[in-house]
Amino acid sequence: PLTTADPIDEHRICVCVRKRPLNKKETQMKDLDVITIPSKDVVMVHEPKQKVDLTRYLENQTFRFDYAFDDSAPNEMVYRFTARPLVETIFERGMATCFAYGQTGSGKTHTMGGDFSGKNQDCSKGIYALAGNSFLGIIYNILLEYYSGGLGKDLEEQKTKLRVLEDGKQQVQVVGLQEREVKCVEDVLKLIDIGNSCRTSGQTSANAHSSRSHAVFQIILRRKGKLHGKFSLIDLAGNERGADTSSADRQTRLEGAEINKSLLALKECIRALGRNKPHTPFRASKLTQVLRDSFIGENSRTCMVIFYCDTVKLKNEFGISPSDIPFSQ
Ligand code: ADP
Ligand code: MG
Repeated sequence: PLTTADPIDEHRICVCVRKRPLNKKETQMKDLDVITIPSKDVVMVHEPKQKVDLTRYLENQTFRFDYAFDDSAPNEMVYRFTARPLVETIFERGMATCFAYGQTGSGKTHTMGGDFSGKNQDCSKGIYALAGNSFLGIIYNILLEYYSGGLGKDLEEQKTKLRVLEDGKQQVQVVGLQEREVKCVEDVLKLIDIGNSCRTSGQTSANAHSSRSHAVFQIILRRKGKLHGKFSLIDLAGNERGADTSSADRQTRLEGAEINKSLLALKECIRALGRNKPHTPFRASKLTQVLRDSFIGENSRTCMVIFYCDTVKLKNEFGISPSDIPFSQ
């Protein structure tokens, strides 16, 4: 069973679930929703009894999380229970990380980057902005995109390859990355905007492209030039992409392998973190390398938001089973 106690006081890993509403197409197709959230920390997964009879259930499996948000919960509420409790950690010389994990189309970017339910994406209602705004006036803010292959483009010089280095004090540096100071809400939104466009530029389908990369949004707090705290907000690549390893397209195949590797490495690191293991295998991927200093040290906190959008028809091998989540002890 997963942890249920107050994640900030007693556990370093808080695991939450968000379920998005069925979209128009799913509703029109009369897809049967297989996930319900009967209370604020319980997820029920309904297994169809027979493929032909979708209305009868074999069993309702119940899983417990720190929080479970049903489709009526707005982004602000998700923020309030996931990322916001971690803000304090940054002021206390800590490292915090908030991940969005789920399959493509499940609502990760809607939550992290901004609300898509209006005409345009409203970045001010994403966790990046909501978290960023809570540090205004005292932080330097950076945004980077991590590509599945190497580290991707930096904000301005899109061709620059970013490199991950570790200095003698085991601090991670992403070489070639620029930090920007933000002074107001508009500055934060502008950075998010640039980051979003870096992630999707030149692609016909924004979602198809962005689901093949991890986006890392970092808030760095420095005092007298020294690193004081860091908050990493991560919109992970669609977890189904890790299975693209047999694609006919070479690029897709390579990306699939890299995503597979990085998600695996992430799970391993989180497992190690949860068990207070001395060794954290962060070197296994660039993603975990970038997050290295967030996986070690006394004062690091992690929150994982798992996204579900399963319907009986959509239900496929890539959907996440709650029992697969690597945080149960
Ligand atoms: P992902 O980043 O996981 O691939 P997106 O965030 O792009 O998924 O979401 C896919 C679509 O689902 C978006 O176009 C958005 O309109 C819709 N969506 C996702 N989450 C919600 C939500 N909580 N409420 C309303 N619409 C949502
Ligand atoms: Mg996305």
